[in-house]
Amino acid sequence: MPKKQFQAESKRLLELMINSIYTHKEIFLRELISNASDAMDKRYYHSLSGGETGLAREELCIQIIPDKSARTLTITDRGCGMSQEELEENLGTIAKSGSLAFKEENDKQEDVDIIGQFGVGFYSAFMVAKNVRVLTRPAGENAQGWCWESDGSDGYTITPCDKAETGSTVILTLKDNTEEDDYDEFLESYRLQSLVKKYSDYIRYPIRMEMTRSRKKEGTEDEYEDYQEIETLNSMVPIWKKAKGEVSDEEMNQFYQDKFGDFSPPLRVIRSSTEGAATYNALLFIPARAPYNYYSRDYEKGLQLYASGVLIMDRCADLLPDCFSFVKGLVDSQDLSLNISREMLQHDRQLKLIAGRLEKKIAGELGLMLKNEREKYEDFFGAFGLQLKFGVYSTYGAQGELLRDLLLFSSSKSEKPVTLAEYVERMKEDQKVIYYACGQSREQLEHLPQTELVKEKDYEILYLTDDVDEFCVRALGQYADHEFKSVSDGDLDLASQEEKDQVKEQSDKEKDLLDCMKEALGEKVKEVRLSARLKSGPVCLTTDGGITLEMEKVFAQMPGDQKMKAERVLELNGGHGVFRKLQGLYQAGEKEKVGTYAQLLYAQAQLLEGIPVEDPVAFSQALNALLAE
Ligand code: ADP
Repeated sequence: MPKKQFQAESKRLLELMINSIYTHKEIFLRELISNASDAMDKRYYHSLSGGETGLAREELCIQIIPDKSARTLTITDRGCGMSQEELEENLGTIAKSGSLAFKEENDKQEDVDIIGQFGVGFYSAFMVAKNVRVLTRPAGENAQGWCWESDGSDGYTITPCDKAETGSTVILTLKDNTEEDDYDEFLESYRLQSLVKKYSDYIRYPIRMEMTRSRKKEGTEDEYEDYQEIETLNSMVPIWKKAKGEVSDEEMNQFYQDKFGDFSPPLRVIRSSTEGAATYNALLFIPARAPYNYYSRDYEKGLQLYASGVLIMDRCADLLPDCFSFVKGLVDSQDLSLNISREMLQHDRQLKLIAGRLEKKIAGELGLMLKNEREKYEDFFGAFGLQLKFGVYSTYGAQGELLRDLLLFSSSKSEKPVTLAEYVERMKEDQKVIYYACGQSREQLEHLPQTELVKEKDYEILYLTDDVDEFCVRALGQYADHEFKSVSDGDLDLASQEEKDQVKEQSDKEKDLLDCMKEALGEKVKEVRLSARLKSGPVCLTTDGGITLEMEKVFAQMPGDQKMKAERVLELNGGHGVFRKLQGLYQAGEKEKVGTYAQLLYAQAQLLEGIPVEDPVAFSQALNALLAE
């Protein structure tokens, strides 16, 4: 049988395992047991949906057999087994979750990180074994058994074999002892027992091993004899059913990292148990970081769903609203039937009830974190805040009530992000609305001319720098009876009556000049007008109507050719030297020059908004002509 080569990434991970200096090599057992348990979950789940008839859950167990004379350790399960193709795919290629975890490791420190923190899976067997054989057989009366075998990174073989029972048997031939490492310990039943207790106690299938016990010899007073007995090593109480005090943080983190394939411990663990209208235990985790594919279409949300301790669905999307799609975890309920189909689940009242409760629970826990652990919450928001904002926007504000107090925004008055409640709390007495400015960055917004008047009044401005921000605040509509208003809104209504009158008077007087500029700009703007908001800058762009410049930018990135456009208004500062220059030119009959000035000012206003000028060549020529005068 020719040897097949491992796929490149698998080979690297494998080499890392073989040459591992990691001191907790013992975790290989946890990994193999976890695979065995998953395989039995799969087999049982499959049988529930009609794949295999007559399978009793009681038949499913894991067996550990140490053999000192052969120096082998065998782990047998009665799970789903693997076909030839599956063997090839699963053990020749690094599993999806694993490849995610696989980072370029240049120094040994990284190696310890990967192995220690992440469920490294099947290949971890090579930390302790010089040869690994997997005898496996999928379900089905006439199914063929297969043997996968490898001595390490130079490849593997797959050959047919006889195997009577469905499931997999993993046989490790342990490495030879070295001065530093003693592998014999993994043949000692007491050591194995304690490892199972330590890492795999919650596995919900019995993990059995033959143990040697001692008893008083019958008919004697003080003579003892050894006897062998198959024992179940694990308590089988799932971690989510254990009392809080019974589970250490380390155990909980390990469970999370293992089960949900994360490098890092979770940011927060949420436990929730209720009885009554809906009876369930939920164990939820908020990851510390967004998975690499989180903000892409590939990401699938969902919680594991168990019916009375039996996995019935691996990723139940209906249990999580989109705004909390980052939450990982599981729900175990005795109200659900084991045989319920996916289609029926969608309409299940009980499931809806649970989903509703979880939504409130998650929002509540995030609220507590915001209140009591601000820095941690800011980290959380850095990773998943966008999703909360999308949540408000995509439900047209329907989830506003749930989410609005969980939002953070940058602000003109503090370096740290603020909540809407904090903003409203420190609003000025005469301030009616919540002001915001949209742009690429805080630095850009700090210098936006439109903010001048608002700042002069000492009103705080929310700096909205994410694409979704403005859509989000618009979907909210208002907060605590205060509407949101963009500082670029055509109708800012902040100037005093006197100031307004002044602008009106000057506008009437300069109507011809303003019309001349509008004519030069054509369709680019709806109007050229004098501004009541500009204080030191000569010009800015504002908008009339419902669509702002930021929204226009977002629409521009979306597919389709019906792009919504903002109604642009070029506002000029009537008291600025530039305007006086324009007046002079107009009075001297230099209309063409006024036109060039209008184009330059418009381009400048666009740049301030972070919008590129449409025709950089024309812009540069006009500017050069001006400089050369
Ligand atoms: P992971 O468990 O993270 O997917 P592993 O490297 O541990 O990665 O395993 C790769 C794949 O091999 C598993 O996803 C599973 O499909 C298959 N596998 C491993 N062990 C068993 C087993 N005992 N029975 C059936 N399939 C198994």
